[in-house]
Amino acid sequence: MYCNHRAEHATPPTRSSYPLDGSSPGHKWIKSLTNDRAGQFTGGRWSSLNLSSVLYTERIDDKKYVELSVWSAPGRSKPTFEEAMRNKFKPAKKGDHFGPSWTNHWWKVKLHVPTAWTKYERVQFEFDPSCEAMIFDVHGTPLQGITGGWGGERRVEHIIPPAAVKAGIYEIVIESSCNGLFGVGDSIEPPNNNRWFGLWTADIVVPNMEAWRLMLDYNTLRQLSDNLPGNSPTQNHALVLQNKIMNTFRNDDPSTIAQCRKIAEEILGEGWESKGADIYDKNVDALIYGIGYCHIDTAWLWPYSVTQQKVARSWTTQVDLMNRYPEHRFTCSSAQQFKWLEQLYPAGFKAVKDKVLAGKFHPVGGAWVEHDGNMPSGEALIRQNLLGQRYFQSRFGVRCVTAWLPDSFGLSGALPQIFRLCGMKARNFFTQKLSWNNVNVFPHTTFNWTGIDGTQVLCHMTPVDTYNAQATFGDVRRGITNHKNLESSNTALLVFGNGDGGGGPLPNMLDSLRRIRAAANQTPDVPVVHMGTSVEDFYADIERDTNYGETLPTWHGELYLEFHRGTYTSHGSIKRGNRKSEILLREVEYVATMASLHGKDYEYPYDRINECWEKVCLNQFHDVLPGSAIGMVYEDAEKLYGEVARDGKQLFKEAVSAYMGNLIPIASVMEEQLALSNGKLVAFNTVHHARREVVEIPLKGPSATRLRKEVVQISKDGTRAYALMDGDDNAGGLLQAKGLSILAMQKGDDEFILTNSNISMTIKGGRITSLYDMILQRELLIKGMTGGLVIFDDRPNYWDAWDVEIFHLETREPLSFSKVTLAESGPVRAALRAELKLPKSTVKVTISLDATPATFQPNSRSLIRFDAEVDWHERHRFLKFELPLNIRAHDAYYETQFGHVSRPTHKNTTWDAAKFEVCCHKYCDISEFGYGVAFLNDCKYGASADGQFMRLSLLRAATAPDAEQDQGKHEFSWAVLPHATHFMQSDVPIAAQFFNSPLHVMYAPESGPLRLALPTVHKSPFSVEGAPNVVLETVKRGEDDTKKKLTRVVLRIFEAYGGHASATLRVASHLSIDRAYTTNLLEEKISALETSTHEATGDTLIKLDLHAFQILTVRLTISKVEMPS
Ligand SMILES: [Zn+2]
Repeated sequence: MYCNHRAEHATPPTRSSYPLDGSSPGHKWIKSLTNDRAGQFTGGRWSSLNLSSVLYTERIDDKKYVELSVWSAPGRSKPTFEEAMRNKFKPAKKGDHFGPSWTNHWWKVKLHVPTAWTKYERVQFEFDPSCEAMIFDVHGTPLQGITGGWGGERRVEHIIPPAAVKAGIYEIVIESSCNGLFGVGDSIEPPNNNRWFGLWTADIVVPNMEAWRLMLDYNTLRQLSDNLPGNSPTQNHALVLQNKIMNTFRNDDPSTIAQCRKIAEEILGEGWESKGADIYDKNVDALIYGIGYCHIDTAWLWPYSVTQQKVARSWTTQVDLMNRYPEHRFTCSSAQQFKWLEQLYPAGFKAVKDKVLAGKFHPVGGAWVEHDGNMPSGEALIRQNLLGQRYFQSRFGVRCVTAWLPDSFGLSGALPQIFRLCGMKARNFFTQKLSWNNVNVFPHTTFNWTGIDGTQVLCHMTPVDTYNAQATFGDVRRGITNHKNLESSNTALLVFGNGDGGGGPLPNMLDSLRRIRAAANQTPDVPVVHMGTSVEDFYADIERDTNYGETLPTWHGELYLEFHRGTYTSHGSIKRGNRKSEILLREVEYVATMASLHGKDYEYPYDRINECWEKVCLNQFHDVLPGSAIGMVYEDAEKLYGEVARDGKQLFKEAVSAYMGNLIPIASVMEEQLALSNGKLVAFNTVHHARREVVEIPLKGPSATRLRKEVVQISKDGTRAYALMDGDDNAGGLLQAKGLSILAMQKGDDEFILTNSNISMTIKGGRITSLYDMILQRELLIKGMTGGLVIFDDRPNYWDAWDVEIFHLETREPLSFSKVTLAESGPVRAALRAELKLPKSTVKVTISLDATPATFQPNSRSLIRFDAEVDWHERHRFLKFELPLNIRAHDAYYETQFGHVSRPTHKNTTWDAAKFEVCCHKYCDISEFGYGVAFLNDCKYGASADGQFMRLSLLRAATAPDAEQDQGKHEFSWAVLPHATHFMQSDVPIAAQFFNSPLHVMYAPESGPLRLALPTVHKSPFSVEGAPNVVLETVKRGEDDTKKKLTRVVLRIFEAYGGHASATLRVASHLSIDRAYTTNLLEEKISALETSTHEATGDTLIKLDLHAFQILTVRLTISKVEMPS
């Protein structure tokens, strides 16, 4: 045998002194050649000779040893373990193919392990179906996931327990699923729904564990020489050692492996391996905190049902790793994912729960899902956390203290306040996505993030620039070299592990980190990485080091992502579903609260309401609501919105009936062809502000004659009527008089004018040529310019559904209505119908103006309403509505959660220019001293102010990852609302609430069991007075009232303009208040509120002081409920 001698030859004898004789032919080290050579120790052209040739000692796949049988579930069905086991399995073999995409296949695997193999350190089964799979024991307990294929995330090995090796027999069950990590498409292209997958590996294998360990040693040395500066001692040393290892290794001499590993100890430290997890000496200060993570997008290039499998596979895999690596800690977010595991994989959930309770598996984030950070309403963001935190508390007895949105496409400035109020301790925040900015580099790594109201959280954006780190030395070192404010904080979070079906950290990541730490214990060139701690430990360390944030830089306002700006508009259906559901649930909660107080035998339907909220929150996931998922996801999402609409409407109907008796929704009168007896029209107003509006009444069926008596205007075609719903007790006949001035008229062939006493709009040649304030006699459009619809080419550089790029603005093309007709002309509603034809699409818009102003605010103007029906078949085109406004302002205002954000109208700097397309909620506005114009909308989220052009983004048409994005029918509405004040004194926010929560028109028969007195427009018993900047939005029952047998009402109040307020909450006298508290968003008491009684009315008055954009939750305990007078 060659064996030991060679190694002795390779290393010359050690000298004891400097020799006299200088005959050595030593040469200058050609470092680049050594470096190239060192890259050849594993794989590559020398793989039959290098380390790769000795990684396996045994491998068998003969069916004598590996017995396989399979059952394929029909279609895309996803049976449970028990259901699958009831079927007939048929024999299968390596090389068989399975498909098509999204199908599930169950395997029974019986392994016969040769008796001689008990001598080996490890025997494993390798199963590679080239797709994702889950291994169960024969009783149905999930053991671990499989990630097939040849990518870096490959995980196909399953360790056969030693007892089974000894017994010589081992049985398992596997479910393989025909999709990969990123679904079944090519990158972000639409899915290939006919992909088939081959069973490439089903082998019993004995790995040469020492050879694998040498590979890890060597890789660490390689990473050191690749990533450290070239003139550093450790970099050169690492390269020299690689060279030495290559000289020492012989693939025909197993003993050289140990010699090679000994060489690696020159950098890793002598005997480092025997320390095991104790290598992480806690007495040394850490620079890098490692935490395992698995970013499982709740839906993206695959549907929700596939995510459920990914979760179960990934998390059970991590439980297994925790049993093998004591230092391993794993964090994951999303209560929804835990709930799926609990419902669908109870045994897997139990294993996870045990690790949570043992402090190793760390729930983080506190939210229902990792939601979009821009578009959910304020109340929805609260529910994300309320549902999430309550779930974590109920299952694990813990609440999350670190908010976690690593991948959301920008983060609203309302979030810090919401985070801090969702659990008293929540003050940490982790994110990462801003490293994707395509214009400016975000300047901080660790900083105080202060929201629009002044609340701050401690924010860390990992300088590793990924939440899928591979735990290499390069990742670890980037935690320092890419850190943007080392002067104030020198630590970083290393969030490592493969997401989306990669199963989280691989064992070799944990092995590598031990080696990197071992090296750090030897040399200061290697940053100290620490394991075995939590994300919270990391933040606590920052707090200590920075005097609780004092020495950190601060970022004020939103964290705007300079990327993915198309996501405010992509997939109109999901945006509409989101807005309509949020509004519906707000209405349901208010009416259900009132019904629960007044209604006999009516119980507040917590579970049914929260089921709806869970669906809405789920669809707010950061690839669903933004419109960046595949088409299948939107089929699921629309189904969920359909359920919310159905259940919400039913809940609303039940609650109205319990609250107010036999009111008949006007829609039901038509749908059910009801014959009405005498009675009157009333309107249920769910907004806690008085209002007066024109409503539309359909006139069909047996009740048309009866209803005609209740209306003031019949439509030209006789199918509809308009009635005035007046919620001002003192208005008298004022409105009738004003209403007479409203008009729609035609001048010549192509000029149409809508006008009332305060506003007028002219359309000429199919374009809006004038928007005129009749009272101030002021033209609001820039002279010589026109407004209307406009279309742009929309061809982003790569991320199709995600991105619209600044250059799209260069392709602006104004569109003209080809046909305009008069539709209604007073006395309370005037309207035009306008049509526009594009090469492949049709846009029909009804433009209307009512006699009433938008609100009761003095000087309020009427809004001009646009109701659009679009049949959309463009590709890569972007439709917007724009007006060139004769208003000068450096900033425009856009509604965000519980307030607004101002953004530049100019492009002075690259930071300003980057905000060429931004997110808005129900309104956006451009104002100068004394005047402004707002756009309101009912389901759109993209807007911009490009100089004096204000634009609302309406429809896009990307083709990846959904080839059919936005193709087909759309309905949406927007309005133009001029106001004769600056935005700050305007009625825009409340008008936007009205626009989104239309009055519910009902018919109240004279006879029948009416419970309550009925004014024309229902008036809420809760109102805020004395501060026009304070809005009461949500009214609901206390979360635990039923359990605690309490009668509590929770009110969400906020300051909407950005200033202080001293307001009074008035509660009508028929509700007696026992106690009043302010609470956090989890409805836990903060402080008591003083109540007083209004002498004349007996109403309860509660004084509230608020600061700019403050969210105030008030909890009232009701002691007695009487009938309102
Ligand atoms: Zn994501």
